[in-house]
Amino acid sequence: MTFEADSETSTDLEWSVTRNPAPRSAKERAEILGNPGFGKFFTDHMVGLTWSISGGWQQPRVQPYGPISLEPSAAVLHYGQEIFEGMKAYRHEDGSIWTFRPEANAGRMQRSARRLALPELPLEYFVDSLRQLIAVDRDWVPSAPETSLYLRPYMFATESFLGVRPAEKVAYYVIGSPAGAYFHGGVAPVSIWLSTNFARAGKGGTGAAKTGGNYASSLVAQAEATENGCAQVMFLDSAEGKYLEELGGMNIVLVYHDGTVVTPKSDSILEGITRDSVLDLARDRGHKVEVRQVTIDEWREGAASGDIVEVFACGTAAVITPIAQLKAAEFTIGKADAPAGELTMALRKELTDIQYGRAEDRHGWLTRLDA
Ligand SMILES: *Cc1c(COP(=O)(O)O)cnc(C)c1O
Repeated sequence: MTFEADSETSTDLEWSVTRNPAPRSAKERAEILGNPGFGKFFTDHMVGLTWSISGGWQQPRVQPYGPISLEPSAAVLHYGQEIFEGMKAYRHEDGSIWTFRPEANAGRMQRSARRLALPELPLEYFVDSLRQLIAVDRDWVPSAPETSLYLRPYMFATESFLGVRPAEKVAYYVIGSPAGAYFHGGVAPVSIWLSTNFARAGKGGTGAAKTGGNYASSLVAQAEATENGCAQVMFLDSAEGKYLEELGGMNIVLVYHDGTVVTPKSDSILEGITRDSVLDLARDRGHKVEVRQVTIDEWREGAASGDIVEVFACGTAAVITPIAQLKAAEFTIGKADAPAGELTMALRKELTDIQYGRAEDRHGWLTRLDA
């Protein structure tokens, strides 16, 4: 199978490149790539841009990975003005390096920026910044099956000021972290915990933005899930505690007996690019797809009657995770040892086959990063 590289994303940025004087040796790198886990190791370089209200985007640079110096008064440390993105670089069989729908991540980062009163990074700067990192750290993209280099673009308020208003100085960085296969020894369905004490987001809040604060507020609920033997936490809407929203960092999708694929509609969930892509693949297969409100009772009753036959979570890190069981304080849906659903696994395979270049990219989702 052959792919054509996208036409070069041209920008007016002239990147200065400072090589890491002490990069990890090939041997050290190979050891890390042999068992990278997730989010534990970082490549030898990072990419940065700064922004100020008077000068706009400036100082495009590739520099050694290392500590960032901030004033103790930097606004982000006090008021949490921060956003991020998460995507992966995939190595194909022929050695080339690709990423998945980066313009969707760039657009989402711009929407997150608007909500958090941060400056919008132009789409082409975003894609260019990923290419710059790959240009110096391409050897950090692993090649074992289902491994990748996780890319983490993020932006935060650096201005030294304790007054409360949008910061006038901001930093943007991209770091890379090699990621192992999420599931070892086969995809394992998980149990998830229904949070009824905590909400993730509310009407008019920041639920639709990819911002650290949403994660900070989900941690106690996630800890409650862990205490109850569950891998993840599931949130309901904050107003009525009735409608499905999403997991701490993944969206949720339900499959009905007649083949209909349903995912919650809400202004306070983070619209995942994995979810959007999976819905497209389901449509391609002739499934009816509905984005609509779903109550927890609908899931409970549908699972009991056999009307709802599969449920899965989706997001960049784990791609698709089958959900065996939902545990709540007062009830349980499903069984802990329920097998992964057929459509769940077929969609997972199809999506990863596209990402790794094993299947035709008929939607034009891939962008080459190393050329
Ligand atoms: C990033 C994220 C997702 C998944 O989005 P993808 O684009 O599919 O990775 C889902 N929920 C939350 C809260 C997220 O932050």
